[in-house]
Amino acid sequence: MKYFSTRGEGAAKRSAEAIIQGLATDKGLYVPDSIPTLDIELGKLSELSYQDIARTVIGKFFDDFSAEEVDICVNGAYDSKFSDPKIAPLVKVKDAYVLELYHGRTSAFKDMALSILPYLLTTSLKKEKEEKEIVILTATSGDTGKAALEGFADVPGTQIIVFYPTGGVSEIQEKQMITQEGANTHVYSIVGNFDDAQTGVKNIFNDDAFAAELDADGYKLSSANSINIGRLVPQVAYYISAYAQLIQAGEIQPGDAINVCVPTGNFGNLLAAYYAKNMGIPIKKFICASNENNVLTDLINDGVYDANRDFFQTSSPSMDILISSNVERLLYHLSGDNADEIASYMKSLDDERRYRVSDKVKEGLSNFIGYYSDMNQTHDAIKRLYNEEHYLMDTHTAVAWASYESYVAETGDNTPTVVASTASPYKFAGDVAKSIGVTITEDGFANMDALYAKTGVAIPEGLAGLEHKKVLHDETIEKEAMPAAVKKSLNI
Ligand SMILES: *Cc1c(COP(=O)(O)O)cnc(C)c1O
Repeated sequence: MKYFSTRGEGAAKRSAEAIIQGLATDKGLYVPDSIPTLDIELGKLSELSYQDIARTVIGKFFDDFSAEEVDICVNGAYDSKFSDPKIAPLVKVKDAYVLELYHGRTSAFKDMALSILPYLLTTSLKKEKEEKEIVILTATSGDTGKAALEGFADVPGTQIIVFYPTGGVSEIQEKQMITQEGANTHVYSIVGNFDDAQTGVKNIFNDDAFAAELDADGYKLSSANSINIGRLVPQVAYYISAYAQLIQAGEIQPGDAINVCVPTGNFGNLLAAYYAKNMGIPIKKFICASNENNVLTDLINDGVYDANRDFFQTSSPSMDILISSNVERLLYHLSGDNADEIASYMKSLDDERRYRVSDKVKEGLSNFIGYYSDMNQTHDAIKRLYNEEHYLMDTHTAVAWASYESYVAETGDNTPTVVASTASPYKFAGDVAKSIGVTITEDGFANMDALYAKTGVAIPEGLAGLEHKKVLHDETIEKEAMPAAVKKSLNI
């Protein structure tokens, strides 16, 4: 298996090289030259553990890793730090199936990938005989930052630097990050929104002079954002596991089609579902759910990506994104691996903040359907599911649930649908509590307690003791100062 840049950089890379590098030098994203097939009868899937499925997926995509190396990565990542032995349990709610991806250490779905990325990266470094210290740069809308800090804290040979938008993450998310322990962890709040943080990180990656300076000091930059192929591939496993769980529970027969509905921001999660389909899982429709920042709804339905629009801060902040990185990978696959075409879309996005896709790509998007839910619909979904089913979901999951309902109402499609649940309700306790009629305050931790008092749903371990943890990172910087912050973190 070889990896190429979506923008035509040229030289093929081994997966280990692509994982170390993160972003290609032409700013493109690494994609596999083909998507491997599962080669397991669907009926046999239900005999496999989550770890077995992850081993299969990772071994096929990253075939320069030995079976033993894959084992070490999978066993190190998916162990008892997940609070559910199924790792990603599927729960029947009304006539759909909620795939709970938030049972890792930081209570958000980012743990699914970021608990394994440090293993994949350190294994890659060994394989490629890379001796430099790796500096992970991460822009976060809240959840990635904490999951990356937790995954990389005190991993030898790495430094981790996280930038988050001031006021753009919840109080609990912020507290999770600024209390992070580990001698190699660095956290900055930047004046701006998530797109500013992400652009700042991309600019640092694309600054050759800066890279040369770091290189002279023995450092090499890499990324833990979902632009890293080492994050995307492990996510494919949970869609296969969801299908296996549906068979096991007798809800479907092997070979039956399912739909997936995913609350989407940077498009990594939904892209993983597309890869799962191409590996052999019969997924019929990909329902892409957005909040008011509905740039993807319009892309999928009209074939035009247009970021010239107002930016909304919503109660699902991890989806408050106008430049959605992983879409580039999907368009590349749908264009028939046409890097020139993708490079021209991305140039147009840089210059005019918009592009229109070709008829061929538009045709390829026909298995996708875009919906968006505003905050009223989102909070109403939380309330109804709690009142009717006693099922508590977070704001992001509720965006997806409301979109799923709109889809079914419009199409009458009754295909079994997996709705991805991306965070514990306690991560967004204020909005969740308010949605079910609990009086809330400005204090996120008091809201967690109030939500618990009303629902009896257990507070995840990682969030329970957070309030009294010591703040270890407290710097706010201008976005222009991000390169200087990197140097300061590395003492250069
Ligand atoms: C990151 C995140 C999303 C968006 O996922 P993408 O893979 O970026 O589309 C949705 N919900 C939550 C809670 C997240 O943390």
